[in-house]
Amino acid sequence: MKRWNGWGDESIELEVNPDALNFLNERIGPGTPMVDATLAQACKGITPSRLPKHRLVDTKRETRLRHSLGQSLPDWLKLRSGKVGTVTDGVAFPESSEQVQELLAYAKDCGASVIPMGGGTSVVGHLTVPQNDTPVLTINLSRLSRLLNLDPESQLATFGAGVLGPDLEAQLRAQGYTLGHFPQSFEYSTLGGWVVTRSSGQQSLRYGRIEQLLPVAGSRPPAAH
Ligand SMILES: Cc1cc2nc3c(=O)[nH]c(=O)nc-3n(C[C@H](O)[C@H](O)[C@H](O)COP(=O)(O)OP(=O)(O)OC[C@H]3O[C@@H](n4cnc5c(N)ncnc54)[C@H](O)[C@@H]3O)c2cc1C
Repeated sequence: MKRWNGWGDESIELEVNPDALNFLNERIGPGTPMVDATLAQACKGITPSRLPKHRLVDTKRETRLRHSLGQSLPDWLKLRSGKVGTVTDGVAFPESSEQVQELLAYAKDCGASVIPMGGGTSVVGHLTVPQNDTPVLTINLSRLSRLLNLDPESQLATFGAGVLGPDLEAQLRAQGYTLGHFPQSFEYSTLGGWVVTRSSGQQSLRYGRIEQLLPVAGSRPPAAH
């Protein structure tokens, strides 16, 4: 399972290499490792949700915490110290465009701001919840993950915006194609997140950055393989 307070799978624990530890010891002396807060401790200080009830919105503290931070150093420090600050008021996991529309209408009605979320791998605080009086609804797009159409002639593929890198490639490869987009966060980041952050990957020199792979209205569709 994905680690709640940092990068990677929680079953994998990597020790710091002894040579690296010696190097650090020589230069800055022996360190005292910080004791990580538990998930329960981090959830304790979270204030009640300000959103009215909705059948698609989860307002549990743990869900809200898991959707309020990314993978930047400030985010990691908040998570590991258990001092997470302001978190989102609710999280929805829409399964269709209709549900997305319903959630946007609900957010408008109750005066909430909306933060869309893909894989939560942002390293620049994109998912930070503003500290003000406006409630925040986070829309997690991970359930919109299907290949909806693939036109072999134009080589144009249409996907749900929340598809994760490995899932996107598996669906394309089953039909003999690749997108050729491999950021180092590939495993946990999503198509929608790549587009919004203008992501690039280790094969972008060959295939192009994400904005070159995404067709713009009126332009010629890009080659998908
Ligand atoms: C270990 C590591 C390695 C990384 N390597 C790279 C790399 O090689 N190249 C690179 O470019 N970046 C890299 N990043 C940064 C990050 O992975 C990218 O910015 C990635 O594109 C974010 O995608 P995401 O799905 O996780 O988006 P999130 O972090 O969930 O969201 C990022 C932003 O996009 C918005 N958003 C997400 N999905 C949607 C949507 N469907 N509709 C509207 N808005 C949306 C969010 O609101 C937020 O503002 C790395 C990060 C880490 C932690």
